[in-house]
Amino acid sequence: MLQVGNLSANAGEKTFGYLKTAQSRSGMNLDIPVHLIAGAEPGPTLMLQGAIHGAEVIGSIAILDFVAAADPAAIRGNVIAVPVVNRAGFELGERGSSIDDKDISRQFPGNAGGSASDQIAHIYFQEAIAQAEVLIDFHAGARTAYERYVLFTAEKDPNNLTLMEERRRKLVVAFGLDQAAFFPPGTFGSGASKVAIEEADTLHLTLEFGGGTGWFKNGEDNVRDALRGIWNILKAMGMAAGELEADGPLCTVYNAGVVIWKPPVDGLFIRDRKFKDALKAGDVYGRLVDPYTGELLAEMPTPKDGIVIPSGQEWPTVGATSIGILGSIDRVEDRRVMDLSVRFD
Ligand SMILES: [Zn+2]
Repeated sequence: MLQVGNLSANAGEKTFGYLKTAQSRSGMNLDIPVHLIAGAEPGPTLMLQGAIHGAEVIGSIAILDFVAAADPAAIRGNVIAVPVVNRAGFELGERGSSIDDKDISRQFPGNAGGSASDQIAHIYFQEAIAQAEVLIDFHAGARTAYERYVLFTAEKDPNNLTLMEERRRKLVVAFGLDQAAFFPPGTFGSGASKVAIEEADTLHLTLEFGGGTGWFKNGEDNVRDALRGIWNILKAMGMAAGELEADGPLCTVYNAGVVIWKPPVDGLFIRDRKFKDALKAGDVYGRLVDPYTGELLAEMPTPKDGIVIPSGQEWPTVGATSIGILGSIDRVEDRRVMDLSVRFD
């Protein structure tokens, strides 16, 4: 039997319910919607997670499409599918949660005695994430558009990979996109949440997938490719039958070592650089101008040399956590010569 807190499914069943988590101070219900798919045959547990950043919904659509199509009789192992983790953020169109001004994705392993987001993180982590072998975590642009790539934690020693890192290299490529990236340690804060997930022995892959008003690519393309990626992960894990499908034979992996942050002033963001442009330290990546007068408010130079790698395509507004990412090509993986099968049993 597959059990997640107060929810369960017997082998061969697909069920839906709300994982009891926390309420806001005034009693707003923040319980998490969870679909359970308990395969007829035993096997590993895969988690699919959407909208832990409330306004990033491409993955949510793909997850709902997957749940509708999945037949437990044809699945080996279990799938825990959560279209929207951060309900408060989703309802308000926010990345985090205005209820306590926290980002659930940064709170793992959570705190049972903390604020609403701490409690949600605690219960969700203990009951769902910790029992999964693999967590596929969908992010996207919200109002702002974003590129599409697989994102993962930097390897501790690329010449001496841990078992989890070896498996992760395969699943990064198996997902089927033509590009992937990793951030060196400390690029985005302490990474304590990612450490907690790894310590629970859960392999974590993040997807950055389109978004924006009108969406960067055609929204339908992004949802279709996200759904294709979900099935690819099941196939690679031996949970579903079939061949992997991908953008093409190659997957370029970028070392995303340089992040350009928004300066401490608000304005209209104008990007002066394109994907693959090579920049020297000091070169201007973009500008912030007064949206009403056009007056230049700030220039944003790159702090280091690097090439412009996948990141937001257009940000006609402000408030993003980062506005540019530069780095280098770490390696190019070739699906034609890689064994992408990852077995957990
Ligand atoms: Zn996000």
